[in-house]
Amino acid sequence: MTFHAQHLLGIEHLAPAGITALLDRADRYVAFNRGGAKHADSLAGMTQINMFFEPSTRTQASFELAGKRLGADVMSMAMQASSLTKGETLIDTAMTLNAMHPDLLVVRHPNSGAVDLLAQKVTCAVLNAGDGRHEHPTQALLDALTIRRAKGRLHRLTVAICGDIAHSRVARSNIWLLGKMENRIRLVGPPTLMPAAAAELGVEVTDDMRAGLADADVVMMLRLQRERMDGGFVPSEREYYHRFGLDADKLAHAAPDAIVMHPGPMNRGIEIDGTLADDINRSVIQDQVEMGVAVRMAAMELLAENLRAARAEAAHG
Ligand code: ASP
Repeated sequence: MTFHAQHLLGIEHLAPAGITALLDRADRYVAFNRGGAKHADSLAGMTQINMFFEPSTRTQASFELAGKRLGADVMSMAMQASSLTKGETLIDTAMTLNAMHPDLLVVRHPNSGAVDLLAQKVTCAVLNAGDGRHEHPTQALLDALTIRRAKGRLHRLTVAICGDIAHSRVARSNIWLLGKMENRIRLVGPPTLMPAAAAELGVEVTDDMRAGLADADVVMMLRLQRERMDGGFVPSEREYYHRFGLDADKLAHAAPDAIVMHPGPMNRGIEIDGTLADDINRSVIQDQVEMGVAVRMAAMELLAENLRAARAEAAHG
């Protein structure tokens, strides 16, 4: 087994072999999920708690289904907005839940680093379902699986990541993952939405969609993260769409077989043309959602195996 992690907090510290092992396992669950009886028991007897301190539709549903299909007892908690701001509150809540002996804790939080902090305090496996603008590892893994299945490989591809890079944990996790797998990465967006240190990430940076998309194999669009903006980062939505929204004209600069991705939720007519988003010959957006469940099943199963091994060792040691 090449996936040794105790938690899944980010892509930054994963080795390429670990990523590949996880994707291989997820591939098997794609077939499983397309079958009739979607019920396995590798998480039987385990308790999974989902704590989402930020709204989520697809990620929460995906983690919930993933756990249920593997036989875990799953509880999803909608955390109140009032408990958002204080680190102490998060840790207190986590400690309370920890006392109930969960095995897997799935956490989304608006503060970057909050999930790492929590993982240091609890005795179960923690999965980061998105922390602030820091990381969203299962999103990058499901994107990687989508790309690998569509393109037949996950290396030596040109990937354009476009839009609100600065506020995007999806972008950050993808930059780590695609970089580790030796792809060429271009970040495309207005300078106001580009992280200050973008050039140090080993990527190319441009504010020109046509140049950024030139011959790209993968075009990954991002949502404008208005909830993380405290001022005027973009002139107007109309102007933004004109310069940075993906439409057929701009996509014509990419490779003829380029795939179009978006993590959702999508703002049609702002980040992406609605017709293009629905074009099954170009868009793999629905595939991304499908891969999400399989990737989360694989991730939770691998962490559960590591957890069982660690517990067995502690019991005998
Ligand atoms: N769903 C993704 C996330 O939670 C992307 C987004 O919200 O724009 O980061």
